[in-house]
Order: sequence, then C-alpha cells, then structure tokens
Amino acid sequence: MQLSYWEIKNWFTDVDYTIVGSGIVGLHTALQLRERFPQSKILVLEKGVLPEGASTKNAGFACFGSLSEIIDDLKSHTEEEVIQLVQKRWSGLQLLRKNLGDAAIDLKPHGGYELFLQNDDTTYNECLQKLPFINDLLRPLFRNDVFFKNIDRFGFQNIKEYTIFNPFEAQIDTGNMMQALLKLAYQKSILILNQQNVTSYADTGSEVEVHVNNFTFKTKKLLFATNGFASELTQGEVKPARAQVLITEPIPNLDIKGTFHLDKGYYYFRNINDRILFGGGRNLDFEGETTTSLNQTEIIQNKLEELLKTVILPTTEFKIAYRWSGIMGVGAHKSPIVKSLSNNVFCGVRMGGMGVAIGSLIGQELADLV
Ligand SMILES: Cc1cc2nc3c(=O)[nH]c(=O)nc-3n(C[C@H](O)[C@H](O)[C@H](O)COP(=O)(O)OP(=O)(O)OC[C@H]3O[C@@H](n4cnc5c(N)ncnc54)[C@H](O)[C@@H]3O)c2cc1C
Repeated sequence: MQLSYWEIKNWFTDVDYTIVGSGIVGLHTALQLRERFPQSKILVLEKGVLPEGASTKNAGFACFGSLSEIIDDLKSHTEEEVIQLVQKRWSGLQLLRKNLGDAAIDLKPHGGYELFLQNDDTTYNECLQKLPFINDLLRPLFRNDVFFKNIDRFGFQNIKEYTIFNPFEAQIDTGNMMQALLKLAYQKSILILNQQNVTSYADTGSEVEVHVNNFTFKTKKLLFATNGFASELTQGEVKPARAQVLITEPIPNLDIKGTFHLDKGYYYFRNINDRILFGGGRNLDFEGETTTSLNQTEIIQNKLEELLKTVILPTTEFKIAYRWSGIMGVGAHKSPIVKSLSNNVFCGVRMGGMGVAIGSLIGQELADLV
C-alpha cells in the first residue's frame, strides 16, 4: 500500500516515541511517556488486528503467585528475588486499578484457591508443610497471612481434602481492561496503528530507522513491548510459551466463584458470566508449546476437557463454547527484562504467566528508561 502525503505527515513524521506491541505493557509504556512528555508524538505499532500475544487472550487472574508456585520459585531464585517478584506483581495490580478504576476492569475480589490432584502427594504435603514459612516471608508485604488451609465447598472431585485459599487474589474482565486501556490511550492523543509488523530497525545514533510492512520511517526512540515475540531481540533470553484455553457455554446455577490454580499453576480456571474458563496443560508438551503459532492441539484440549469432567464439573452437564490460545514470554528467570538495547532502542519483555499483574509496572519502567 502506498501511503499518502497526509498519512506520512500526520502519522510517520516527527515521531518522538514509537512503541512496538499494543498489549498491556505497550499501552502502559505509551501512557507513561504521555505523562512525562505531554507535547510529544507517540505512535504504537501492532502487528495484529487486535493484540496478537497474550493481553486479550489471558484468563484475567489478578494474582501474584499460588503457594506451590512461590515454593517452586524459591528453588531457582533467592528469597529476596521471590519477595521482589511478588511485590512487583502486587504493586502492578494496584497501579492497574488506579489507572483504569475497578469498575472499568470489573474487578471481583472473590479470592483465589489452589487445588491438589488426588495423586499429587508431593506438592500437597510440601505446600501444607511450608505454608507457615511462606506466610512469614510475605507478611511484611501484606501485613497479614496470605495463604489459608481450607476445605473445598464447591464440590470438586478427585482432589485432596484441603485447598489453599488466598483472600488477596481477584479476577478481572480482560476484554474490558484492554478496551479501557485503549480508550485512555486514544483520549491522551496516542496514535495506535494495527496490522503494522515491525520487521527491522537501525539505530543511527541520533534516531532510529524503523522498517514496518513495506515502509520506513524515523523515530527518536523505539521501545519494544513484544513479550513472547522478543526471542531474536534478546538473543533467546525470552522464549515463546503458548497457553491454550477453553470456555464453556453458560451453566445454569453455576456456584463456582473465584480463581483456581491446579497442579502447580499448570492449570487454572475461573467463573465468568456463568461460564467456566479453563486453561493450561503446557506441561504435557513443553517443546510443542514453545511456539508463536496461535493454534490448539488435541492432546491439551482433550486433557482440559477431561479435567473439567472429572475434577471441576463432575456432576454438571456442560458444552464448550470457544477455544483459543495466546503467547506468553518466558525464560530461565521469572523477572521481566527491562533494558536498553542501544542508544535509542529499549525493551520491556518476559512477563511470564503474570503479566496482567506486572505489566502496568513494567510499562512504566520501560518508559522511564528514555
Ligand atoms: C492463555 C493465557 C492466560 C493468561 N492468564 C493470565 C492471568 O490470568 N493473569 C496474569 O497476570 N497473566 C496471565 N497471562 C499472561 C499475561 O496475559 C501476559 O503476561 C501479558 O498480557 C503480557 O503483556 P505484554 O504487553 O507484555 O505482551 P502481549 O500482550 O503479548 O503484547 C505484545 C504485542 O506485541 C505485538 N508484536 C510482536 N511483535 C511485533 C512486531 N514485530 N511488530 C508489531 N507488533 C508486534 C504482538 O502482536 C502483541 O500484541 C496469560 C497469558 C495467556 C496466553
């Protein structure tokens, strides 16, 4: 497509800040740049019709780590690192709520639960044993116990007697959250263009040449918020991790309320509008799920359906309404990468499985690098 003089003049000339990716991080980066530079021209480029990674595909858990995830993280990270991660997720959630408002994101503080499959003695026993220690670790942050031993009241089957309840966890409406973010960005005169695939760039020292589709333009600063698509940009420090999801048709008198973690967070489900949204199963095929292709596979979808039937809705008829997948950005370390790549090029990537929580804060940190 040939761009007109007007298009070139208004959208692609004298651009101060160009952000690649219109997910949670990209849009928060743009908003923070607007806060700092009220008169600047800010352009967000997104390769999809809608964001094509995770921000409009996720489960909408406003969470900061289940008990077993935190215990697991302590095996590969120091206590200080784990506390810092939880703190960042928690602060990110507060920032998201402050920026958009609880009504706009439909925040529901139902709390979160961790369930343990009947045959998973190891995780169950470890969680019960380490619960007091983890509560002590997090007390300076939450000024209270975070995790409580609880007996299931939802009628789940094939799980251990106790579940772990976290009253600080909540759920949001992901679609509402992203629409509210986009609306705010438009209100603040941030230009957002979809179906613009940034294929390469060159930092000349004083500015950056950006190649997008069949066109090249110049920007003073270029900021990548491309998360699961940042493998090349970070020399493999970020890897794509596909996550598959399904959602049921509405279920009359559904009594399940909250966010639920199962099998060390590899599975997660929640209620939304009388439906159950259920995702996970990446552990069934780590290699196959290390991909940016937005497909579903039989092995994972079948397992999700099986767990729905045997654990979550054992006595309720249900039908699957939709299935989809999204792409996360993961790596050897759980903390995001926020850094400069050259004089005028920066990135904020590797949100892991909790970018709803941490994304707003990372957007702010990325914008504050310039
Ligand atoms: C199924 C699923 C469930 C999840 N559940 C939760 C949850 O319950 N709670 C939670 O906290 N987190 C959850 N997450 C993780 C969370 O959604 C992500 O961490 C977060 O959305 C990442 O935001 P982001 O802005 O960094 O990346 P993204 O939302 O992936 O945005 C990156 C964008 O960059 C664009 N892009 C990439 N390359 C280019 C290019 N070259 N040119 C132009 N555009 C480009 C992509 O199209 C994409 O839209 C889940 C993720 C998935 C997939």
